[in-house]
Amino acid sequence: MALPVAIIGAGLAGISAARALMARGHAVTIFDKGRGPGGRLATRRIEAEGRKLQFDHGAQYLRAESADFATALAEAGTAPWPDAARRVGVPSMSAVPRALLGEIPCVASRHVGQITGHPGAWMLRHWDARLVRPGKPLPDTAPEEAGPFAAVLLTMPATQAREVLGQNAPSLDDALATIRYAPCWTVMASFNAPLPLPDTLRPEAHAIGWAARDSAKPGRDARQENWVIQAGPAWTRAHLELPAEAIAQPLLAALVSFSAAPLPAPFMAVAHRWRYSLLEAPLGEACLWDGAARIGYASDGCIGGRAEAAWQSGAALAAQVLV
Ligand SMILES: Cc1cc2nc3c(=O)[nH]c(=O)nc-3n(C[C@H](O)[C@H](O)[C@H](O)COP(=O)(O)OP(=O)(O)OC[C@H]3O[C@@H](n4cnc5c(N)ncnc54)[C@H](O)[C@@H]3O)c2cc1C
Repeated sequence: MALPVAIIGAGLAGISAARALMARGHAVTIFDKGRGPGGRLATRRIEAEGRKLQFDHGAQYLRAESADFATALAEAGTAPWPDAARRVGVPSMSAVPRALLGEIPCVASRHVGQITGHPGAWMLRHWDARLVRPGKPLPDTAPEEAGPFAAVLLTMPATQAREVLGQNAPSLDDALATIRYAPCWTVMASFNAPLPLPDTLRPEAHAIGWAARDSAKPGRDARQENWVIQAGPAWTRAHLELPAEAIAQPLLAALVSFSAAPLPAPFMAVAHRWRYSLLEAPLGEACLWDGAARIGYASDGCIGGRAEAAWQSGAALAAQVLV
């Protein structure tokens, strides 16, 4: 029998679960607060000085250790970068989730704030995502409702999942409380001339955890000089609540330490704060499924802080739903 299933989150975990359930004939609807799918597989587009710039400001590259994920990356048209073992989306990282989502129904720009109803007939209350502020109460405006759904799958960082879950599955909530991520301040900067630096940097014990010439990836505009600079967890935590405007300058100054010559000033630099980046405490199980409540959880937080782990977690959760 085709079951109506709601998936909250159109990142790799949600997409992977959706594909497995749809392949078995279930009626899946994905909800995501973002304008498009992908979650932390993300590309920011910025116009500055009359130029259209783009930056993969979330996941930098994808590694496939399993045949399943390798097949998915091939289907999504990824290309090797910066070496044969690592792959990126072309012409942007966000092209990967878009390709893998395909025609799966996805309700975008909607923040799911509450799950109401009862097992087997869950309803989702969702709001215009632009009206929802992280850590603040849900908007006063009336939500839209969707459902009933035979099962609900949450596929986002654990803290966000707990906010949506409420009291609907206490055993899940206890397990979710054990998952912990480090945050990551990320600077996107564009220059008028090439920087005298290699395409990628991964220093140890430095303010910067990773920096890359994003415009050197395959399928990008190679005339541009676009950089993504990610702070390490310690630096990010020490500066976590600073306004975004205060972040670019110190991280660009830190980049100078890798160059023999002074670096030119960028003509555009902005910062993005990821509250959930490197996984520090994984769940240690492939997914969570409460068969009585018919609510489940999948994400990279289950097995490992990388895209492939999110993909595998989503597939594992779909297998539980199908039992
Ligand atoms: C800065 C950074 C660098 C990284 N670098 C790499 C890398 O190089 N290689 C690698 O393999 N991995 C990397 N990762 C990790 C990788 O991005 C993740 O493991 C993977 O994308 C997680 O997928 P997911 O589906 O579990 O979660 P997400 O991608 O976070 O998807 C969750 C989705 O849920 C949505 N959502 C959340 N709450 C709600 C709600 N209430 N209502 C509706 N929608 C909601 C979000 O909008 C999001 O789209 C990086 C991550 C970050 C942040």
